[in-house]
Amino acid sequence: MTDKQVPITKSWVEEHQATIPTPYHLYDERNIRENARYVNGAFSWVSNSEAKPGGFKNYFAVKALPNPAIMRLLQEEGMGFDCSSGAELALCERIGVRGEEIMFTSNDTTREEYEKAAALGAIINLDDISHIAFLEKTLGSLPELLCFRYNPGPLREGNVIIGRPEEAKYGFTRDQILKGYEICKQKGVKRFGLHTMVASNELDPDYFIETARMLFELAVEVKQTLGISIEFVNLGGGIGIPYKPEDTRVDLEYVSTGIETLYEQIIVPEGLHPLRIVMENGRMITGPYGYLVTRVLHLKNTYKSYVGLDASMANLMRPGMYGAYHHITVLGKEHSEPTSVYDVTGSLCENNDKFAIDRSLPSIGVDDVLVIHDTGAHGHSMGFNYNGKLRSAEVLLQMDGSPRVIRRKETLEDYFATLEF
Ligand SMILES: *Cc1c(COP(=O)(O)O)cnc(C)c1O
Repeated sequence: MTDKQVPITKSWVEEHQATIPTPYHLYDERNIRENARYVNGAFSWVSNSEAKPGGFKNYFAVKALPNPAIMRLLQEEGMGFDCSSGAELALCERIGVRGEEIMFTSNDTTREEYEKAAALGAIINLDDISHIAFLEKTLGSLPELLCFRYNPGPLREGNVIIGRPEEAKYGFTRDQILKGYEICKQKGVKRFGLHTMVASNELDPDYFIETARMLFELAVEVKQTLGISIEFVNLGGGIGIPYKPEDTRVDLEYVSTGIETLYEQIIVPEGLHPLRIVMENGRMITGPYGYLVTRVLHLKNTYKSYVGLDASMANLMRPGMYGAYHHITVLGKEHSEPTSVYDVTGSLCENNDKFAIDRSLPSIGVDDVLVIHDTGAHGHSMGFNYNGKLRSAEVLLQMDGSPRVIRRKETLEDYFATLEF
């Protein structure tokens, strides 16, 4: 069970309404920092081992919450950044993140993106065997360090969001990855990483232990057949968060202990120690600490009861896109009984613009403030402008409880900026 609390009150929202009007995404700095420490602490056995100082790192998946203010505080907490596009690389550059603090995990990549990644000294993680030649041609030569993304295909069962690995567009097959290391070794690449990402929003902790086993065993095979000692394994992102009150968060201590046992069994006897362990989680780092704060514009009773908000699917498309559950709290009515059933909607001309369908909530009135939970990852960043909806502001709830606007809301001028009149 997860207690769905909100770090602000109704009067806090009203007090700031004039300067920070709803709707906006609010991010809770205190809990993001605490959580980052929890993640790093859970894997301290990797980092504290003498042979592997700094041996664990989470590269925050920038796409989850691409905002410099958030990235800076995660940087302060020791995280690197996982980028998948030229724009995400440019964001890192703008805040002074460089070199191996950046993991570039892309697919269907352009020359310009590889050039940018190489210019920043990022760790380049290739998605396909054909990209070895593409990268060599683009850069003139291969970098000293390369990582490959492994797709286990039928060897691994899938997960709900990403689907079965065989159907996924990502990664090298097993044969290709062995061939890829061999080719790159011949071409003078000196350092290697091994990556996979086979799950998304996965709450089963054993899934991540099994992923580590899969990568450890492959690293051993690479050592035995090619004489290459892989330097790090990247278990990907995909750790889920408890969107529903009845969900439990993934126990990272349990995951870490499971991985440590496998490390002792598989890696150490093969002489592959020290092997760094990295991840590239986005969702579990910031997701639970973001809230979409929105106000009720209208109540409508027809065949069903509708609550119409000043936010829409343009601010948060997960419910409309995946039917995802996002918990809702009515501020000021936190302890009221859920006596009514509503569809909670936005204003798009799309009938799937609903944050919740048949949701039991306390009786709602016009002007009530609703908080939609767990929007700190894949929330604002997935936003779009359909129907001329302007994207909302992003606000950081700072350590001292005061708000700071870290992205202003869009204006009509922003929306029209690319048009010819
Ligand atoms: C999206 C993505 C992530 C982050 O996923 P989360 O669910 O936010 O943890 C990490 N790595 C890759 C390659 C991704 O595509």
